[in-house]
Amino acid sequence: MSSSKRPPDLKDETRSIHTGRGGADHFGVVNTPVYRASTILHPTLESLEANAMPFSYGRRGTPIHRSLEETITALEGGARTVLCNSGLNASALAIMSVCNAGDHLLMVDSVYGPTRNFCDRMLKRFGVETEYFDPSLKGDIAELFRPNTKAVYCESPGSLTFEIQDIPAIAAAAHSKNISVLLDNTWGTPIFFKAIQHGVDLSIQAATKYICGHADVMLGYVTANHSHAKRLSETHGDAGFYVSGDDAFLALRGIRTLPVRLARHYENALRVAQWLQTQSAIEKVLYPPLPSDSGHAIWARDFTGACGLMGVELQADINLSALFNSLKLFGIGYSWGGFESLIVPAHLEQRNTPFSSKGPLIRLHIGLEDSSDLINDLDMALKSAMGTL
Ligand SMILES: *Cc1c(COP(=O)(O)O)cnc(C)c1O
Repeated sequence: MSSSKRPPDLKDETRSIHTGRGGADHFGVVNTPVYRASTILHPTLESLEANAMPFSYGRRGTPIHRSLEETITALEGGARTVLCNSGLNASALAIMSVCNAGDHLLMVDSVYGPTRNFCDRMLKRFGVETEYFDPSLKGDIAELFRPNTKAVYCESPGSLTFEIQDIPAIAAAAHSKNISVLLDNTWGTPIFFKAIQHGVDLSIQAATKYICGHADVMLGYVTANHSHAKRLSETHGDAGFYVSGDDAFLALRGIRTLPVRLARHYENALRVAQWLQTQSAIEKVLYPPLPSDSGHAIWARDFTGACGLMGVELQADINLSALFNSLKLFGIGYSWGGFESLIVPAHLEQRNTPFSSKGPLIRLHIGLEDSSDLINDLDMALKSAMGTL
């Protein structure tokens, strides 16, 4: 595999192109092909008993799975990556691989809603207690530690409300008590935030979003550092997690263009965010690269860029239906990270920590369109929503 020839100091743009390509093993074909497999045949009984083939069974992975895992592990700077059939499923796996019955889990209060449901319903049934913490806590999270606290789960910035967390400070506090640190790094991506370098033990990604990047695949993964690799891999195998070879292929295809797509999402989103800030219909833009954002200092210290997802607080008197329904280029729908721009209302009913907002909160995903076209679309829709059109 080309990885054995890979110099250690390659930049992500190069790594994302040159890692995980088994050319010589596949007749010179550039991309690792999809093998459709359940059974792997052995030439002899002895080979079967010794498990001597490079692949053992379809569920445990084929060459395309290994190529994808290898590429992700290189970008994440981790020890081991396992693939999951959705981002949510990756969050669940990461938690299941560290928590036992009787344990206490500290979960950030700004977490993605479905992850919260997993904790409140399923984890609870298995005897794990979840406590939600204020996303602004740093090293002072230590005040919430109990003798049975097993893990701190972070998401930075938070879903819908975009608070940036101080991951190095939280990790330092947690590790001093042997507590694991899990992070949903979907917004930061393995390109813009190096989770493991910043002290995270299990880096979780909804690969459905930017990794796949084309709104056509559901996929997730978890990358572990050395200390967490064995347990993660074992839990993944024991619970029978499996991703189709076709979906793994599409994810790897997505990674080949991930850094260039993200650079354009960042450029477009920053331009749209700066323009939105000047609009009278807008109360506040929640986007960490803006100097006015409450998380800007930590973002500037820890991240090397930003994706296309932001929150927008609108003026109280805005007509939300008029805004949404007059947009021509922004699709109304969930998920994000694809090539196209999207808008959804943000609902914060599940949250405990107070969030003050004068008007309605929405979430925008800025896609790869021309940013002037997007601004013109928003301008027209905001005017109609304020009754000035
Ligand atoms: C979408 C999302 C997930 C879940 O990913 P799916 O692939 O849709 O299951 C998890 N975390 C965050 C932050 C997300 O935005």
